Amino acid sequence: MNKKIVLSSVLCSLLAATSYADSNPIAIAIHGGAGVITRDALDEDKERAIRETLEFALRSGYAVLEQGGSSEQAIINAIIALESSPLFNAGVGAVYTHDATHELDASIMLGHNRQAGAVSGIQFTEHPILAAQAVLHQSVHVMLSGDGADEFSRSIGLPQVENSFFNTPFRREQLDRAKQQTSELKAISNDHEQIALLLDDEFKFGTVGAVALDQSGNLAAGTSTGGMTNKRFGRVGDAPIIGAGTFADNDSCAVSATGHGEYFIRYNVASDICARVEYLGESIEIAGQQVISKLLEVGGTGGVIITNRDGAISMPFNTEGMYRASIDASGKVTVQIFSDED
Ligand code: ASP
Repeated sequence: MNKKIVLSSVLCSLLAATSYADSNPIAIAIHGGAGVITRDALDEDKERAIRETLEFALRSGYAVLEQGGSSEQAIINAIIALESSPLFNAGVGAVYTHDATHELDASIMLGHNRQAGAVSGIQFTEHPILAAQAVLHQSVHVMLSGDGADEFSRSIGLPQVENSFFNTPFRREQLDRAKQQTSELKAISNDHEQIALLLDDEFKFGTVGAVALDQSGNLAAGTSTGGMTNKRFGRVGDAPIIGAGTFADNDSCAVSATGHGEYFIRYNVASDICARVEYLGESIEIAGQQVISKLLEVGGTGGVIITNRDGAISMPFNTEGMYRASIDASGKVTVQIFSDED
């Protein structure tokens, strides 16, 4: 091949790559938990701080997508930003266990190959989402728990911290109130499910998560949490369970959930939404609404964020509010908290 032909074919493929990238949709959505989030319950300063942090996390992820980076990197950047804020129940804002420690859960799933990684009950990794990503790429397993997950994280060189790194006075005070309320409820009922249902939502919610679509058409989803306040006995919620709190498949959609984890596990929420999209041909909006309203019928409260390969976004929830933000394929930006915001 002469030089001219080589040059023109290189130029052609560069142009093709540019127009492919330019014409392909990208999208991202994030959440910072759902629950009894009303205007009365949030003062102005806190509301502003939450909106700013959500937007910062959203843009941290979106910048990756704009530059042609992967949906995996986009959700990692967004989740790291949220784990770094004390405003949300993940990373430095994690809730306390019954024993006044922190046990963190996280997971990630990639839509193009359905590879997944998860950690549960991890105590010393600064960014649990990075431990989940490392399980995906650097182990032959999908899920590691407890001391083993910490040992793995340490062994591959992820930044480690003391467990007290996750201490915050606000969450500590929340633990004391959760214990008080639990003992009051136990005095009037022996029914564990009833007690869990009656517990204030503030003790159950606050997880963070992200879903994204990149220029190559690949979906990814990730979720990170401190779990439920006052949890005992190594309780594991839905956040690290692939299919319950996190799911991504290029054939359907990417989902990250937040809510009363026990229900999200029992109803396999994230993968159920994607299954409806794939097998029933439902839109992500209909599939999400169906699953989230079915959940409410049995007492399960919370919400999900969803995206698909068209870069559409849906963020249904059945609580008063859900911290959420998104940029869809049309470039429309939303940063929302309450249920009456469009
Ligand atoms: N789903 C989480 C859990 O049950 C809690 C949350 O979303 O805030 O651990």
